[in-house]
Amino acid sequence: MPAIIKPLCLALLALLIVSGAEAASCPEQGPLAVQVLGSGGPIADDGRASTAYVVWIDGASRALIDSGGGAFLRFGEAGARFADLDFIGLSHFHTDHSADLPALLKSGFFSKRSRPLPIAGPSTGGPFPGLQGFLEAMLGRERGAYAYLSGYLDGSGGLARLEQIEVPATPDGPVALTAVVNERFEVDALSVPHGPVPARAYRLRLGDATLVFASDQNGSNPAFADFARDADLLVMHMPIPPGAGEVARKLHATPETIGAIAQAAGAKTLLLSHFMARSLANLDENVGIVQSGFSGRVIVAEDLACVPVP
Ligand SMILES: [Zn+2]
Repeated sequence: MPAIIKPLCLALLALLIVSGAEAASCPEQGPLAVQVLGSGGPIADDGRASTAYVVWIDGASRALIDSGGGAFLRFGEAGARFADLDFIGLSHFHTDHSADLPALLKSGFFSKRSRPLPIAGPSTGGPFPGLQGFLEAMLGRERGAYAYLSGYLDGSGGLARLEQIEVPATPDGPVALTAVVNERFEVDALSVPHGPVPARAYRLRLGDATLVFASDQNGSNPAFADFARDADLLVMHMPIPPGAGEVARKLHATPETIGAIAQAAGAKTLLLSHFMARSLANLDENVGIVQSGFSGRVIVAEDLACVPVP
């Protein structure tokens, strides 16, 4: 490297490190905060990691919702700790919501954690596995792609056993995940319509605070507004613009539908995430459509954005 370029590179590196340190301050921004690990979609053209969120409680990373591609990197950048997790919720088994799970589990191996870890995901449907099938395909001792991590299924080898909670299809109302009740929060789940893909929304209740992660969904389950009633933070995904085609609208809600749902639920803050190039193209306009139907606060996610919840 020419001598004159080297100092320049070092200066740039210093800037990047400072920026990373700032992003890691989410746990210091209040007793309860949600941090976006990935705000992008399934196509590697939006400059964002795929879907994942961390819930910070009293400075510790206590819940992880989804783990799409890129979550592994952002998890570390956020300063989150595998050992602190009380819950992992997987909304569905599209890659942009689940592909980095084995990488995070391998990373967790080095945390020396032995405390069992509850993990929830949908039951099987169509060509998609249920949680058990997904984990077996990843971690199964006999045929798993990452059989060397099979200790996560049974607690052997010093690994933390995953307490599997396969959430049945419950479109009419929520199901309480009784395995996820601890001194910090409770979790329940609701089936949401995402084309042919079994998908679940998750609701975390912490004292008076309610956080709702809507998952990918087209917004057509009338029970969802009740599920998200008075949420302090409602996280909804906006990968499609108005006027999207029929197939896209079977999978995802339009900006107009997102605004209507948030309004019907009476959510206090709406965090828009899971963007794709097609919804980023006219982002201001699309966010404006949401805001025209929703009277609460709207926040547009970026990777590592931190949203303190009052
Ligand atoms: Zn999806």
